Amino acid sequence: MVAQLSLLAGRKASVPTQCFINNQWVDALDGETFETLNPATGEKIADVSSGKAADVDAAVKAAREAFNTTWGRNSLPDNRSALLHKLADLIERDQQHLGELESVNSGKGMRIARDFDIGDTIGCLRYYAGWAGKVTGETIEVSSKTKMVYTTLDPIGVCGQVIPWNYPIMMWAWKVAPALAAGCTIVMKPSELTPLTALALCDLIVEAGFPPGVVNVVPGYGATAGAAISSHMDIDKVAFTGSVATGRTIMVAAAQSNLKKVTLELGGKSPSIIFPSADLEQAASWSAMGVFYNSGQDCCAGTRLYVHDDIYDEFMSLLVAKAKACAIGDPWDDATSFGPLISAAQRDKVLKYIESGVSEGAKVATGGQKWPESKGFYVEPTILEDCKPHMKVVQEEIFGPVLVVSRFSTEEEVLKLANDSTYGLGAACFTGDAKQAMRVSGELQAGTVWVNLYGLLHSSVPFGGYKHSGIGRELGSAGVHEYCIVKAVQHNISEEMAWPV
Ligand code: NAP
Ligand code: MG
Repeated sequence: MVAQLSLLAGRKASVPTQCFINNQWVDALDGETFETLNPATGEKIADVSSGKAADVDAAVKAAREAFNTTWGRNSLPDNRSALLHKLADLIERDQQHLGELESVNSGKGMRIARDFDIGDTIGCLRYYAGWAGKVTGETIEVSSKTKMVYTTLDPIGVCGQVIPWNYPIMMWAWKVAPALAAGCTIVMKPSELTPLTALALCDLIVEAGFPPGVVNVVPGYGATAGAAISSHMDIDKVAFTGSVATGRTIMVAAAQSNLKKVTLELGGKSPSIIFPSADLEQAASWSAMGVFYNSGQDCCAGTRLYVHDDIYDEFMSLLVAKAKACAIGDPWDDATSFGPLISAAQRDKVLKYIESGVSEGAKVATGGQKWPESKGFYVEPTILEDCKPHMKVVQEEIFGPVLVVSRFSTEEEVLKLANDSTYGLGAACFTGDAKQAMRVSGELQAGTVWVNLYGLLHSSVPFGGYKHSGIGRELGSAGVHEYCIVKAVQHNISEEMAWPV
């Protein structure tokens, strides 16, 4: 089963829409499908197989068989590295096609999807291709004459991976690349809202030459396919990106099944602080990027802004101008960097948050409405001023293009406000004072702190949360270690056991 899609400039393309198990395309065992839409028009683009527990089970069997035979400790690190490089090359070859597919299914501007998201995907695969064979244990001196002790970092096994809709292809890479480098095999569930690129990549998995069963993809709903992954008795680890509520459900399922290892990346309500000594023009540009990139559907979006009294009016007029300059439009247009939200439900949720902010006393500085020029799920770039710590819009993750702004007068005061959150994924400060930058970055409770910039990530830099923003890290050396398990091996050279002790 494939779907015929109309892509850019009327180009027709066939895209796979089934479950991918053991390097083969198969329907869901019960034959059911779900619809996937184009968020920029609200129209259906394809029917996709709706995998459930029985399909997950088949995928786990394939992944286990591969782990025990062609992959895991039976594979050579050089070979895993070469396959990851080959996959990166194939994605680069197909970058335009994949960019269009990502754009039509997620609503991102096509240029952004192709050049940024897929560019970073390629970078991530190459980065982890370099890690295969470089994940090493240690030798440990306990008594060097009588014993030899060392550790090995073994691949953890069959890994379930459940990814969201905001960066479909990039979240695929962040999870697949380190797992494969470490020698794990995979059962992946993409979001039911954005399954198409995860499936298209499976054809490249085969073309690159990965053995059957190493990567399996089961599209479907969270409550069925996702729940089957997190509660499966033969999955050794589950890695998840999405909401706190679902992260909790997954952790409970892991605890109640086989105590599989859990890593979670769960979003945030990241604060950004503008001090008077900052370069205000630059701070406004980075802040706009921080909250409006990907139409605000970003786990580390800088959504709480604290501006010092002395520069408040000057900074806010710069920032409102940046919000009004967002390149909102048709995702096919190369100029567009601000597209629709992922779904009608997400759009309505965001609009409700804006209403709630206003009803609690916030003032709309700009935006606040559906974008009137499209039937798609667009919300205008929105800034709310006069926000107070108790407001829902200040405490909860909105996951849309909404910035909440408050004033402050002292460093001590703003650090309290910034850290007053159950989340701790990202944080930023803008200042021209180097000592202040060191003090404030040290005090901010977040997995990533940006100083005089916002939102930039790199495959080599670990990413993850403090507090409710998650458990574990992705990217960097930490990312590959999350897919390993430590084994200590103790060799006896000359110690004799005198029995009884
Ligand atoms: P979500 O429910 O957390 O979904 C993320 C992924 O988890 C999807 O693949 C989802 O499947 C799956 N899932 C849902 N229930 C599951 C279960 N019981 N077991 C295993 N997997 C399950 O997020 P959402 O409903 O799409 O979005 C809601 C909110 O989550 C957003 O408004 C935002 O605040 C947050 N979010 C955060 C991130 C992030 O990057 N941290 C990304 C996306 C969303 P389905 O696709 O079938 O739901
Ligand atoms: Mg969902």
